[in-house]
Amino acid sequence: MMQPPIILLKEGTDTSQGTPQIISNVNACQAIADAVRTTLGPRGMDKLIVETGGKATISNDGATILKTLDIVHPAAKTLVDIAKSQDAEVGDGTTSVVLLAGEFLKEAKPYIEEHVHPQIIIRAFRKAGCLMVQKIKEISVKIKKDDPNELRVLLENCAATSLSSKLVAAQKDFFSKMVVDAVMILDELLPLNMIGIKKVQGGALEDSMLVDGVAFKKTFSYAGFEMQSKKYSNPKIALLNIELELKAEKENAEVRVNTVQEYQSIVDAEWTILYDKLDTLYKSGAKVVLSKLPIGDVATQYFADRDMFCAGRVPDEDLRRTMKACGGSIQTTVQGLSAGSLGTADLFEEVQVGGERYNVFKGCPQAKTCTIILRGGAEQFMEETERSLHDAIMIVRRAMKNDAVVAGGGAIEMELSRYLRDLSQTIAGKEQLLITALGKALEVIPRQLCDNAGFDATNILNKLRQKHAEGGTWFGVNIMTEDICDNFQAFVWEPSVVKINAITAAIESTCLILSVDETIRNPRAEGGGGPPGAGRGRGRGRPM
Ligand code: ADP
Ligand code: MG
Repeated sequence: MMQPPIILLKEGTDTSQGTPQIISNVNACQAIADAVRTTLGPRGMDKLIVETGGKATISNDGATILKTLDIVHPAAKTLVDIAKSQDAEVGDGTTSVVLLAGEFLKEAKPYIEEHVHPQIIIRAFRKAGCLMVQKIKEISVKIKKDDPNELRVLLENCAATSLSSKLVAAQKDFFSKMVVDAVMILDELLPLNMIGIKKVQGGALEDSMLVDGVAFKKTFSYAGFEMQSKKYSNPKIALLNIELELKAEKENAEVRVNTVQEYQSIVDAEWTILYDKLDTLYKSGAKVVLSKLPIGDVATQYFADRDMFCAGRVPDEDLRRTMKACGGSIQTTVQGLSAGSLGTADLFEEVQVGGERYNVFKGCPQAKTCTIILRGGAEQFMEETERSLHDAIMIVRRAMKNDAVVAGGGAIEMELSRYLRDLSQTIAGKEQLLITALGKALEVIPRQLCDNAGFDATNILNKLRQKHAEGGTWFGVNIMTEDICDNFQAFVWEPSVVKINAITAAIESTCLILSVDETIRNPRAEGGGGPPGAGRGRGRGRPM
């Protein structure tokens, strides 16, 4: 007998549940992994993403690519989130984490289809995740931090490994030294915002330089500027948020005047106000005056006559960094200008970088800060260089705080894979199969490294499996010779936190996606606030 359907939800609600829903979510996640798959590793390709405004971004960084793509699938967004979290937490390894999660899901899929309960899979994966983290901690190599030489080698290697998969791979030695120098300048806390990165188009990549201090572009200058000195040692620096310009009051106020004298007195008053300000600044002993707001021609000339330097329209971020580095405080009036509110630096200089002029402060007493000035051709290229350096800087910071490293190039993944396979032999029941599957999934990293380089992945993986079974812990893909080699000796090093975080995050998101068996879409959410395209297309509860 047919039973009438029970209507529980409002008409139009799209609900799908059960195994097909899980499978569909898994498929969506695999599509995401496929989107970034080819970017992995030193021979990985880059992606050119054109956004709605026509802005083109070229990137190799998993997080950047996924952020720029407008992903609407609710489950697939999880993968975007883990890539973002990896980016925020350790800075590198964003492609790896997405690939791993995609592969874990792929391995889990047949079991879901066979109606193994998701919770069993989740439990086994969680357990294996913990074991893998333990194993990484156990086999990672600790570097003696007390020895400055050894520490430097460690940091440079980690930076070089991070950079070797980027567009700037050819210059990785140059940039890894620069990145390590930059991080070494910082103080204990290693605040990231104390490394400024500036881009100046033109010149070669190797013309990029590291300034031990603050540097920013001179945006605007008036007549009289050329007469100012461009170099001071130990100058006092005034940081202002004041406009030093003759204000045309007629724009701000309406004044009724009857005689020429009255008009003259208004003009005079304006000049007096400005000159008072300038005079106070001069008397304060400041040699360099920086302001967020414009500094006009009268002021520029005034300062030039008194052997002072000024720069207006300094970006807020740069002014703040100068304040943090040089001391003093940003003033909104000149009245309270005291010795304490002025900053200082060992050397101030204006230098020419390509077609731009840069204000450079060196030897800042308050905070350790530095600025990397990047040179290069196309804008997209320099933006990608900046992102790559960001990854490397994050990696070096991580490695400074945490001195354990593992070998990259698939070595650590192969070792974990072997470990899980061996371990599974000692476990009975379904868990055995699941843990073996996870071990197999880990091979995705070396396999993809080979695929992206055009190597015969099967052959290399066979060699790697054999080596690891014989105890060659650090054997991985040799990207140069289409072979395998000891990547620890080849100095392909990565901080172990990168891998720990990647594996934990990948396992977490896998479990999250496997534990969702129903999606309910409220019909109202669809029309108004939902992202464009949501609700259309496949993959929402229908198996693909
Ligand atoms: P992610 O966004 O995950 O960092 P990458 O494109 O940077 O992705 O690729 C990182 C992978 O490339 C890591 O597995 C790393 O071990 C590997 N790798 C980096 N340099 C080398 C190298 N010189 N030889 C072999 N593998 C390398
Ligand atoms: Mg990387």
